[in-house]
Amino acid sequence: MKKNQRDEGSCLRCGRCCMWISMVINQEIGPDTAVYLDTHGCRRRGNKLLIPSRCQHLKGDEPPYSCDLHGTVHKPTICDLYPGHKETSFTVFNECGFRKDMPPVPPDEPVFRKHRALRR
Ligand code: SF4
Ligand code: SF4
Repeated sequence: MKKNQRDEGSCLRCGRCCMWISMVINQEIGPDTAVYLDTHGCRRRGNKLLIPSRCQHLKGDEPPYSCDLHGTVHKPTICDLYPGHKETSFTVFNECGFRKDMPPVPPDEPVFRKHRALRR
């Protein structure tokens, strides 16, 4: 059974996982869509697309943040599971306090800079 990273640290309440929606990119993205995503502040990390979207339930202007759904039945299960196990499909941010023994991941990249360059 895969070790759950939630047993390997603690939440530092940095808020990073509550400020981005992470989606796996499983198809080629055309140049026009790429530029569109870029203008919306999206980031790319490998095969993941990170969409800036602060959760409306995240409270605070700086760390430590809090979740106003924490401890209620309304908190999404996905939030309670984060960051899952080491081979998880979640995007685990470098700042996350549950990253013990996980190798650092490269910083997020601007989404599709090469497409933008192609258009110039
Ligand atoms: S519900 Fe709470 S834990 Fe989940 S993303 Fe929103 S603020 Fe974060
Ligand atoms: S990224 Fe990790 S440390 Fe930061 S708020 Fe989310 S679970 Fe907590």
